[in-house]
Amino acid sequence: MSPKKPEGCAFLIGEVGSEEILTPEDFTEDQRMFAQTAKDFMDREVFPHVEDLEKGDFDKLVELLKKAGEIGLLMIDIPEKYGGLQVDKTTSMIVTEYLSKYSGWATTYGAHTGIGLWPLLFFGTHEQKEKWFPKLATAEVIAAYALTEPGSGSDALAAKTKAELTEDGEHYILNGSKMWITNAGFADLFTVFAQVEGDKFTAFLVEGDREGVSTGAEEKKMGLKGSSTRQLNLENVKIPVGNLLGEVGKGHKVAFNILNMGRFKLGVGTLGGGKRTLKVAVQYALDRVQFKQPIANFGAIRSKLAQMATQLYCLESMCYRVAGYMDQSMDHLDSAADDYPEMVMKAIEEFAVEDSIMKVVGSEVMDFVADEAVQIHGGYGFSAEYEVERIYRDSRINRIFEGTNEINRMLIPGMILKRTMKGQLNLFETIQKVEMSLAKSEAPTPPPQGDDPSLEFERFMTEEAKKLVVYCANQAIQKHMADLREQQEILMDLADMIIQLYSMDSTVGRTLKLVDTQGYDSTEVHRAATLIGLSESFQIIRNRGERLLYNLAEGDKLNAHLEAFEKLTFFPRIDVISLRRIVADAVVERENYPF
Ligand SMILES: Cc1cc2nc3c(=O)[nH]c(=O)nc-3n(C[C@H](O)[C@H](O)[C@H](O)COP(=O)(O)OP(=O)(O)OC[C@H]3O[C@@H](n4cnc5c(N)ncnc54)[C@H](O)[C@@H]3O)c2cc1C
Repeated sequence: MSPKKPEGCAFLIGEVGSEEILTPEDFTEDQRMFAQTAKDFMDREVFPHVEDLEKGDFDKLVELLKKAGEIGLLMIDIPEKYGGLQVDKTTSMIVTEYLSKYSGWATTYGAHTGIGLWPLLFFGTHEQKEKWFPKLATAEVIAAYALTEPGSGSDALAAKTKAELTEDGEHYILNGSKMWITNAGFADLFTVFAQVEGDKFTAFLVEGDREGVSTGAEEKKMGLKGSSTRQLNLENVKIPVGNLLGEVGKGHKVAFNILNMGRFKLGVGTLGGGKRTLKVAVQYALDRVQFKQPIANFGAIRSKLAQMATQLYCLESMCYRVAGYMDQSMDHLDSAADDYPEMVMKAIEEFAVEDSIMKVVGSEVMDFVADEAVQIHGGYGFSAEYEVERIYRDSRINRIFEGTNEINRMLIPGMILKRTMKGQLNLFETIQKVEMSLAKSEAPTPPPQGDDPSLEFERFMTEEAKKLVVYCANQAIQKHMADLREQQEILMDLADMIIQLYSMDSTVGRTLKLVDTQGYDSTEVHRAATLIGLSESFQIIRNRGERLLYNLAEGDKLNAHLEAFEKLTFFPRIDVISLRRIVADAVVERENYPF
């Protein structure tokens, strides 16, 4: 990996393929062993019990957590000095991916080892860590994260739960209720957010066995029935001041940083779930005979399989690129320093835009894949006897929790704007490229496609897309300035453009590296998926861009914009149908995700 400290949003400014990115093909032997351990755990311990878990057998769920603890799967992120494994972020995400093949378990495991444990990891004191980490690592203590309330979801800081300091300054008294808390049915340690002195939003550790702590009945949910979700009630709960997490009034730092990391984890989790779904779908398509042949022979079905695999390939390229960046950033930190956890948090925060992108893309790819898998199953996909029925129901929540996709979409351009204003992101170079393109009288001529190990055509498309995105973003800023934050419809379209650009940049970057290391001829399927992904992303970017320009200007000004837009764009003549056939052949041959 490059020794350079990576920067967030590099895909907006750097040239595609100009910096080395981590790809799944780079995983080390150790990382592959972790993947195998997680896979074996799913196959041997989790999958045989799905039916019971779906019926709400949460004793079994707790037993599984303890078993995962026995083989070290719960101590992945815990520092060595507290008895943990403290693996790199890439390994941690590989484990998440493999453990996410069944959502009920994935949510339980994710809430415990992710949003449940991370507040302590990044904001806890030495004493708190020493007390809780060994127990969390074995699931003797199970963690949960309690932010949402009946009246405050997306607007999390409007929480009403109160924490009052006792007169002697020794305790806080907590009152309020939290809604939709994962693991609440059996959790022993909750990170609870409450207002101190009215409006000082603050995080606390609250033990589940304290007097005044109770939980409601299990929520009757559409999906994720194999995970526990309950209301958490706090009635005059007295906790020592030592249970304060971080500083009074700084709870937003805890809440948002943890959600941020949760988004990254969710993106990787949906990748695992999506791959499992593709496998289930292709195996069904090979078994199911209609018109005297397996339905996997039909082009309509094969094209779905190809599309599912392609979207997962793009998602995978995005996810592990960020994991690699995070690890590269950590390499620059002194792990023995007292402020190491804080520095790690900052290094992770650098990629907040990419995290939100992964959350949005992951949840939407997962929904797409689940929906197509049901379609491939025909009427049987509508039957609770088949796994895809559950997958379809389970998938839907991903677009809602860890910040809804609307909130995350608005955050994406918002954070980029903020970084630009603060001088953390130099968009100047890309703006200059746009201006140079506009100064020319003709639209650029694309290089020829195919038979080119330097993937010049793919790189050209990505660079053109970059110009389109930056052009439109620039026009939106010019027109609305600070008021842009209030223009939600514009922000959503801008977010779509940025998301697609990140997908293009990451996928081309990965395939380029693969062609370089494995050779042009042995990467035919990867190249096909890349071109399909590019074609679709480019269309979305052009569509959203046009829509934005029609809103941003009218009359002569609009004509000028459209003229500029035409110079910046082109119609890539990509034969998506033939490319899908290549990817579909690989999916059917492997009976699985083919990359
Ligand atoms: C199964 C499950 C498990 C969960 N686990 C946990 C957990 O462990 N811990 C926890 O704290 N929470 C948890 N949650 C809560 C979850 O994070 C929230 O449901 C989510 O943040 C959305 O909040 P809300 O449901 O109140 O929706 P709202 O915030 O009321 O949103 C409703 C709709 O309005 C939109 N909206 C809201 N504000 C805006 C705005 N400013 N601009 C535009 N659109 C907006 C949203 O995008 C959404 O479409 C869980 C929820 C579920 C269902």
